[in-house]
Amino acid sequence: MKRYETLSVFPEFFEPYMSSSIMGRARSKGLFEFHAHNLRDWTHDRHNTVDDAPFGGGQGMLMKPAPIFEAVESIQTMADAPAHVVFFSPVGETFTQRTAERLAGEDRILFVCGRYEGMDERVYTLADEVISIGDYVLTGGELPALCAIDALVRLIPGALGDEMSAVDESFSSGLLEYEQYTRPADFRGMKVPDVLLSGDHAAVDAWRLASALERTRRFRPDLYEAYMEGGADGETGAS
Ligand code: SAM
Repeated sequence: MKRYETLSVFPEFFEPYMSSSIMGRARSKGLFEFHAHNLRDWTHDRHNTVDDAPFGGGQGMLMKPAPIFEAVESIQTMADAPAHVVFFSPVGETFTQRTAERLAGEDRILFVCGRYEGMDERVYTLADEVISIGDYVLTGGELPALCAIDALVRLIPGALGDEMSAVDESFSSGLLEYEQYTRPADFRGMKVPDVLLSGDHAAVDAWRLASALERTRRFRPDLYEAYMEGGADGETGAS
């Protein structure tokens, strides 16, 4: 069973999301375990201090190295397998579906979430990798951790239920997903393409590939170019 863990100063943020909807169902089915650790459990002063002022001056506070080192070392002893340790930072490598697919191969991952102005640089020696979820700055690493865990859980076989699959979603083939429609076939004069009502599966597949190509060319020319070149990172074939 996969085991995903977080280390943060706001462990209570995670439970509502991790016990709802697809995450909650997959967890109850025993497809993965989730543990939210509180960094303050590894402090030793009366105020459970996890931050301090930066050397050299400057705005805000930084997360101190000692509680993070103690916490990561102690969490590593809590299961038989060592955890792959991921730190979140805007300076990390950008998280993509390829990152999710690669991390899905890890049985145990510890996600370390920052707060304040970030972390003392020395903590990154504990990291197997540092990940950013995009070129913007959030107040903490909890949302990035939820994004990453959500993307990973979707890839666990059985997590989406028998009727759903992550296989033909956006990015899985290197293309964005094709346009989709449900009933009614005519809504306020906007008609569903005839081919989708035809029952001709080959024609539907051909239409979906054309739709995926057109949407990717329009909205993500970078992905379109990589796909047409055969996929520099192995992305080939539309679903
Ligand atoms: N001062 C830092 C900088 O400019 O790079 C930003 C610190 S941010 C306010 C606090 C924490 O939120 C970070 O340590 C990180 O864990 C998390 N965080 C914020 N934006 C993020 C992003 N785009 N990707 C991943 N983590 C992020």
